[in-house]
Amino acid sequence: MALNLVQAWTRARRELEAAGIAGPVIDARLLVEAAAGATRVDIVSDPYRALTPEQEATLEDYLARRIRREPVSHILGRKGFWKIMLQVTPDVLTPRPDTETVVEYVLRDFPETAAWSVLDLGVGSGAILLSILAERPAAKGLGVDVSEEALAVARENAANLGLAGRTALLRGDWTYGLGDESFDLVVSNPPYIASHVIAELEPEVRDHEPRLALEGGPDGLDAYRVLAPEILRVLKPDGRFAVEIGYDQKDAVEALFRDAGAFNVATIRDLGDRDRVVTGSKNPLEKKT
Ligand code: GLN
Repeated sequence: MALNLVQAWTRARRELEAAGIAGPVIDARLLVEAAAGATRVDIVSDPYRALTPEQEATLEDYLARRIRREPVSHILGRKGFWKIMLQVTPDVLTPRPDTETVVEYVLRDFPETAAWSVLDLGVGSGAILLSILAERPAAKGLGVDVSEEALAVARENAANLGLAGRTALLRGDWTYGLGDESFDLVVSNPPYIASHVIAELEPEVRDHEPRLALEGGPDGLDAYRVLAPEILRVLKPDGRFAVEIGYDQKDAVEALFRDAGAFNVATIRDLGDRDRVVTGSKNPLEKKT
């Protein structure tokens, strides 16, 4: 007998729960919606709609993949972040809610009509850069990534969101080749997990997400050692920066930016009340000599 939407959701939840998947209710709903071509509203407003045999088979496939700890974002090929929907592949870090802290902070002080130039270092899927550009119509952005595959994902996302005209994407090694004093704002979510911690990560992350986007060297701080002085170099005087950090990296990363000459260095907490984003600005009076 064909399953209806609610039965499918219940069964999916039970299977995921039995397999020890964290958050089985939401994962089950997302997989049922995708397999059945249903919206969130359909499950409530049309709960007895039957799945076709093809949809049931698709759902079984999705559940089997999820039980093997493949992230939902990889199964669906997309992930919502801030107010946008992004395509994701195994070549990019799946956008996380923690990272919305960067966007929230930036938009707070970013005037609606400012024609700011924004640089996103390690742009990945484009989550941070495209969220900002989507909300600031006069801004333009450059996203840099060392991964050509990641840039292809960011490029597709920029096009899907109608932001390709204000988004430049460049393959590169952080700021290498970028001119001094070029940007009003620099953002980054660099790799910051210490190498020895990688083995302890959840299988969804450890086995499915790009190591390049996660691993920050022996103490997790390798990227910030490069980025702190370089971000200060490419920022315009009075320009700002916001970089994501690991929950226990506040003191170390703040020190790196202060040593690089940053002003107003401060750390913002995420919704889980963990230190998450180091911010600051460049001396407004700084002149090149
Ligand atoms: N927050 C991510 C995680 O814990 C890591 C992201 C990063 O290294 N930039 O999986």
